[in-house]
Amino acid sequence: MKKIKMSIKEKLLDIKSSLPPHVTLVAVSKTKPVADLMEAYEAGQRIFGENKIQEMTEKWQQLPKDIEWHMIGHVQSNKVKYMIPYVKLIHGVDSLKLLKEINRQAVRWRKNIHCLLQIHIAEEETKFGLDENELKDLLNSEEFKAMANIKVIGLMGMATFTNNQLQIKREFQHLKSIFDHCQQFTSDNLQLTTLSMGMSGDYPIAIECGSTMVRIGSSIFGGR
Ligand SMILES: *Cc1c(COP(=O)(O)O)cnc(C)c1O
Repeated sequence: MKKIKMSIKEKLLDIKSSLPPHVTLVAVSKTKPVADLMEAYEAGQRIFGENKIQEMTEKWQQLPKDIEWHMIGHVQSNKVKYMIPYVKLIHGVDSLKLLKEINRQAVRWRKNIHCLLQIHIAEEETKFGLDENELKDLLNSEEFKAMANIKVIGLMGMATFTNNQLQIKREFQHLKSIFDHCQQFTSDNLQLTTLSMGMSGDYPIAIECGSTMVRIGSSIFGGR
């Protein structure tokens, strides 16, 4: 059977119409050419996710300036300075050290940078992230509370890459329960409103489990 090829615009609008109003769509455009991003932009998409700083910088230069750029990949501290001028939200913050560097650079640029703390919920060792105790230590630390140029607006996590829907659901439920428990922490730079979980293969489960932000790439732009 011949597969009918949907355009980027059609796939984007299709996914968007399936999302509840409280869920934000990050269109993950890593490895894709700017023409593809432009097609999504023309269909109304304004939030794009990239996982490499240099690629994000190059696309930022070429594309309209009302795009919100999200860094969804692992970030090395020594590269933070390159993205501070234009990054809107950093999803993968997984250490106090990294947060410190983001704050330091944000001070230099007189900006306030929004961050999500990445939590390790998957079975795989390869995925980055804090465990629950590390998260609590971080949020309790005086060092964190003193960072005036960042705001932690939520948590991010990735489920195990598996076909086992029950396992995925358990992992997302675990992240949601950590998110709920963390509401008891208070500081001026903490406002936990965003739960970034769900990608092309698992976003319907993530939404069911309380996601407020999904990061979808291949279902919009095709495989990589
Ligand atoms: C690539 C990537 C995505 C999107 O993955 P798809 O399966 O293409 O939707 C989401 N989150 C992160 C952190 C990624 O690196």
